[in-house]
Amino acid sequence: MFDVAVIGGGPAGLSAALNLKIRNKSFIILGGTEKVTGLMKAPQIDNYLGLVGISGTEMLNTFKKHTAEMGIEIKHEKVQNILSMGDYFAINVGVNFYEAKAIILATGHAKANYMPGEKEFLGRGVGYCATCDGPLYKNKPVAMISENEEGEEEANFLSELCSEVYYIPMYDGTYKINEKVKLIKEKALAIEGNDMKANLLRTASKELKVEAVFIVRNVIPIGQLIEGLEIEEGSIKIDKNMAGSIPGIFACGDCTGKPYQIAKAVGDGSTAALNAVKYIDLQNMK
Ligand SMILES: Cc1cc2nc3c(=O)[nH]c(=O)nc-3n(C[C@H](O)[C@H](O)[C@H](O)COP(=O)(O)OP(=O)(O)OC[C@H]3O[C@@H](n4cnc5c(N)ncnc54)[C@H](O)[C@@H]3O)c2cc1C
Repeated sequence: MFDVAVIGGGPAGLSAALNLKIRNKSFIILGGTEKVTGLMKAPQIDNYLGLVGISGTEMLNTFKKHTAEMGIEIKHEKVQNILSMGDYFAINVGVNFYEAKAIILATGHAKANYMPGEKEFLGRGVGYCATCDGPLYKNKPVAMISENEEGEEEANFLSELCSEVYYIPMYDGTYKINEKVKLIKEKALAIEGNDMKANLLRTASKELKVEAVFIVRNVIPIGQLIEGLEIEEGSIKIDKNMAGSIPGIFACGDCTGKPYQIAKAVGDGSTAALNAVKYIDLQNMK
């Protein structure tokens, strides 16, 4: 069991991790897919004190060099969801679970653009983790919509179980899918079904009869990540200590709202870490 699990390997998460390290807490930092931090898309940054005119990638590498020198290792695993277990949290990364007494969410700006039918059929034929739920659809036709390469491995895994697997990539690339997976290079438009469950995926020119639709997003919407956490105008609602509405959950950076800036993310990260430390120390005194 870790004292803290930091979710996110951008400026906010790295800053939180650095402060946890300095405060000598045990922690894990789960950074998701390396390619997906918002900062890497920034061509040139001029508003961060002391590091002028460098690209987002260069800045992130500078931050990572610092954390690596402090002995912090980022695990590139994507958190699927977090379960509150009373006095600790279970963090699901697909096949594995981690446990921590407190959580710092630093997952960046998440646009929750659900596709038609997605929310309606969530848990009733729509899922986000093929590794977790795929076995429920043995010998049945399924579809996988993916915003990135992660979906390829998941589709290949599903092809070992399911009667048919349709792969609908929402990115350009050379798709490493096996011959059993059918590539559909069309926009997925809607998930449809009956009162009970989803049974059809509509694309621009096709109606795919499926029993399940799996969706892999670059960023998992917060509401999906942890149930019951209060959201305000699309961002995690926090107090001045960066504490969320569930005791033991802290948040920092873009996932807490505007301004979407590196300096804010770094400051938020250290505030969240120091308050998580206080929370852990109080818990340990009980
Ligand atoms: C094109 C562009 C230009 C920009 N230019 C500037 C600029 O000039 N100056 C400035 O101050 N700001 C700029 N920004 C904004 C800046 O990049 C963000 O404010 C900053 O990166 C926020 O840091 P963060 O750590 O909150 O989020 P992010 O940097 O987005 O990092 C989020 C992290 O969380 C991880 N993650 C997400 N979900 C999960 C999950 N389920 N499990 C595990 N990990 C997960 C991601 O992989 C990533 O590592 C720019 C942004 C863009 C897109």
